[in-house]
Amino acid sequence: MNITGNRRINSFLYLCVGFVHLVFLVVFWKENVIPLAHLNIFSVVFYMVLALRAFKRGRLQVIFKACMAEILLVAMFSTALAGWECGFMMYVIGVIPLVFYMVYQFGAVNVKIALIFSIIFGGAAYLTWFLTSSGSLKMYTLSAPSQNLLFLMNLTLTILMMIGYSVLFVEAVNAEQVRMMQMYERLENSANVDGLTRLMNRRTLDECFNRFINKAKGPGLEFSVLMCDIDNFKKVNDTYGHECGDDVLKNVSSALKHCIRGEDRIFRWGGEEILILVNGGKEIAKAVGERCLEAVRNTETQCKDDVVKVTVTIGVSSYHHGDTQDSMIEKADKNLYHGKRNGKNQVVV
Ligand code: GH3
Ligand code: MG
Ligand code: MG
Repeated sequence: MNITGNRRINSFLYLCVGFVHLVFLVVFWKENVIPLAHLNIFSVVFYMVLALRAFKRGRLQVIFKACMAEILLVAMFSTALAGWECGFMMYVIGVIPLVFYMVYQFGAVNVKIALIFSIIFGGAAYLTWFLTSSGSLKMYTLSAPSQNLLFLMNLTLTILMMIGYSVLFVEAVNAEQVRMMQMYERLENSANVDGLTRLMNRRTLDECFNRFINKAKGPGLEFSVLMCDIDNFKKVNDTYGHECGDDVLKNVSSALKHCIRGEDRIFRWGGEEILILVNGGKEIAKAVGERCLEAVRNTETQCKDDVVKVTVTIGVSSYHHGDTQDSMIEKADKNLYHGKRNGKNQVVV
């Protein structure tokens, strides 16, 4: 919840503060403390105007400063005239955390402003104490019930205020943390994903390949590498342009992605080459490869007035004891090369 941005909540808060001043007004009126009754008429009107107009865009800081000035003025006068026993100075101390919260919400670059406000508030409390310590300023003595009522009200409201800001502050910090986490996840995701094809990039491959190799070292677990290369892709670029080539590459990547199962992994190896890690030995890899060929053959890309179709050739290598990432990719590349020489559009295991 952001109290600086929500008009309804702001309106409601101003209404509440206006009502509190109305109570002060009645008490002072009843006790015949006329200057403070007048002062509270001003405060009631002040907060009613704020509640009615709520927040106008861009006025936040002006309103905030005006509220701070009102709190200072009313607290100092009330303390000076009615004495410290009524507890009005508590507000002056209680708003210090609010100043820091507001500075945080306004996105101020440093805490200097909050410190200046805090010094003003702290200074006002000391000043009021020095001015009133001789007792010469205190012109009114309220009845014990009124004094108790004011003190308890002021104490309760100050406590509630401080709890309120603390909750808001923690929520604001939490919201910021969530925002940072989401940003981090987005960044990490974009660092691992190829921008054009949305497949995982080579950066992620090494980590994934290691996991497959480690798993395959266990008994009964096999995996294979499928190296897929689009056939005659240069001709697509030369005939229809690079942009169309990009579209074809995107569509082929998407088609291949849909050919594999959840536990298999697909990467853009580079250029128009896509590498797939398949859970399973030669037979399974061959079947997945055939499925991929079929899917790519059925993929159409609209390039201006033409429909472009391409094929892929796939070289497969299955894990054998002692194999490494490099040895498996080398073997898959060799099979891919054979496929290219034997007419393309085929799987070579
Ligand atoms: P082969 O059947 O032997 O694989 O022939 P080919 O034309 O596909 O292979 P070659 O290696 O001669 O050319 C690959 C082309 O792929 C050349 C390069 O410009 C193109 N290419 C690589 N990456 C991209 C890309 O991201 N977008 C586009 N549009 N073209 C790319
Ligand atoms: Mg190639
Ligand atoms: Mg090619």
